[in-house]
Amino acid sequence: MSYTQVILKSGKDQSLMRRHPWVFSGAIKKIKGPVEEGDIVEVTNNKDEFLGLGHYQIGSIAIRIITFEQTEINDTFWHNKLQAVIDYRQQMGFFNMEETSVFRLIHAEGDGFPGLIVEYYNGTLVMQMHSIGMYLIREKLARMLSEMLPIPVNAVYDKSANTLPHKADIEPTDGYLLGESTNPIVKENGMKFRINWEEGQKTGFFIDQRDNRSLVKHYAQNRKVLNMFGYTGGFSLYALAGKAQEVHSVDSSKLAIELTNEHVDLNFPDCKNHFAFAEDAFSFLNNMDDSFDLIILDPPAFAKHHNVLHNALQGYKKLNRKAFEKIKPGGILFTFSCSQVVSKENFRKSVFTAAANVGRKVRILHQLSQPIDHPVNIYHPESEYLKGLVLYVE
Ligand code: SAH
Repeated sequence: MSYTQVILKSGKDQSLMRRHPWVFSGAIKKIKGPVEEGDIVEVTNNKDEFLGLGHYQIGSIAIRIITFEQTEINDTFWHNKLQAVIDYRQQMGFFNMEETSVFRLIHAEGDGFPGLIVEYYNGTLVMQMHSIGMYLIREKLARMLSEMLPIPVNAVYDKSANTLPHKADIEPTDGYLLGESTNPIVKENGMKFRINWEEGQKTGFFIDQRDNRSLVKHYAQNRKVLNMFGYTGGFSLYALAGKAQEVHSVDSSKLAIELTNEHVDLNFPDCKNHFAFAEDAFSFLNNMDDSFDLIILDPPAFAKHHNVLHNALQGYKKLNRKAFEKIKPGGILFTFSCSQVVSKENFRKSVFTAAANVGRKVRILHQLSQPIDHPVNIYHPESEYLKGLVLYVE
């Protein structure tokens, strides 16, 4: 089979030669033949040398490379690629689900699947496509995964309506590709969560904070904990499990706060030391007293694009300054950024500036990132998006 050839401008082949999987539209010299969004194209340099095969799409990222090998993209190709992500999760112990039955199965570029995210929720796969190419083969991938996985797959839900480019000539709707919802209760490190992938934010749950939540449990004993931007209470449950004195959960979403209360009841039926507030972060931080000695700040991505990077950094500075002003001496601050465009260095600088402005003495206890089911492709530094600092504030 032959694919339409896309020729890059002179010198624009460097990043592909370093196995970075994106081709920006500005790097393209010529497209030799007909091409539709979602088609596989063959990328070459201007000396006709092969660079890779990828999905074509109109937009700033024009091609997402799915292989750097000269091969045919057929069912066997996809089967082998899926087998590799399955083997990796198996080796890392994710299919032993006694304590944890929720994990990310495919982490886009981090797993060699640009444009595709797949998560496992105790029997249900939730797929989220960010590229037309992956969207067009979603049914095939869903079927293959359900047949290949050595753990039960009762349903596959497609949640791409809001993640595909609007310009494309498709009208995606969310819905089940296979089966129907069966068991939305999952376990994470023994803690139970009811996941609503149909109405919840993103794919229903922020799986990427699993290891960092365990660290909160480790430090929570006898502390008064504020879980800011708590969503459905992930960090709060771990703090309660770690014998916190009190836990306060704050999120601006009423639905998230309802689910937080439900999760506390589900795991700690007679809990008297958890309090939940559907409130804006800044209004809560402005009005609260200075009695919290463990604060978690896990805001949504402040910047989705480079052009708003400056505002995002100001946002992190402002937010962290509030925490440094209010945290009790001897307190521990967990502070995060999940913006892909904010680098580790920039985030650190914002937090350090905030600390300096308030004049607190601060030690770094941990520098956090994402867990092993969200692997970072060494050639694609952008797949490392989650950054966190754990700080001891004197
Ligand atoms: N820490 C969570 C994930 C947080 S996602 C977990 O472990 O699961 C970010 C959360 O911030 C979302 O739930 C969103 O509803 C909330 N949010 C967004 N803007 C907010 C604001 N201004 N004040 C309070 N919460 C906000």
